[in-house]
Amino acid sequence: MVKTERELREDICQIGRLVFQKGWVAANDGNITIRLDADRILATPTGVCKGMMHPDDLIIVDMKGNKIQGRAERTSEIAMHTTVYGLRPDIKSVVHAHPPVATGFATAGRSLNLALLPEVVIGLGCVPLAAYGLPGTPALTEPMLPLIPKYDALMMANHGAVCYGEDVFKAYFKMETMEHFARIQLVAELLGGAKVLPRKEVDALLDSRTRYGVKAKSSGEPGCPVAFEDTGAGGSEDERFYVTRAELIGLVDEAIKARGVR
Ligand SMILES: [Zn+2]
Repeated sequence: MVKTERELREDICQIGRLVFQKGWVAANDGNITIRLDADRILATPTGVCKGMMHPDDLIIVDMKGNKIQGRAERTSEIAMHTTVYGLRPDIKSVVHAHPPVATGFATAGRSLNLALLPEVVIGLGCVPLAAYGLPGTPALTEPMLPLIPKYDALMMANHGAVCYGEDVFKAYFKMETMEHFARIQLVAELLGGAKVLPRKEVDALLDSRTRYGVKAKSSGEPGCPVAFEDTGAGGSEDERFYVTRAELIGLVDEAIKARGVR
């Protein structure tokens, strides 16, 4: 069933409330768009809290981001949305926010690329990190260009995240999965380090996408996600051995003596 423009306006307001209530935006941060047709995009305007919008607050812009209808002004980040629509004909909605844990990773210069959780490997593959670019300028979207065709969720260094999908709910749920994943990885790291899944388990999860009917763009190319074998940790668990500090010093001493250095 095709939704009316009024219903799509209400959908954007509903997602705006969720994004705000979850604490993924502060004040007037973030923006949400829906592609209405080949020439028009329904968009949240600049200068409004995304948790307190009325359907009539939304504006319509063309595919270049120029406003064609509505009272308020367009967001300076509209190019992020038009760039996604330009590169991905399959995408009907884009959600941009600053979810704090994923944005924390992005600010630390870290992507969410480890194979840790089955639903993330299946649904997103991984979430790459685009280099920093000044918001409101072409520098923001430039580092995203090679990533948009291959992934459905991106993080932007020192800024936030952008997710996109076939409708606004699918785009929103990708961001929810990403932020949930970031929280879990952070807790795992606080508890001594996340255990990365081995390659054979990652391949089995990627194969299961057809079984679950998941249409994810990322195809498990090297590094997305990173499997245990790719981490450089090396060797299987039974090939490792552990020594205390004193034992290690003893071993080094013996080796030095054996070479006649002392
Ligand atoms: Zn932003």
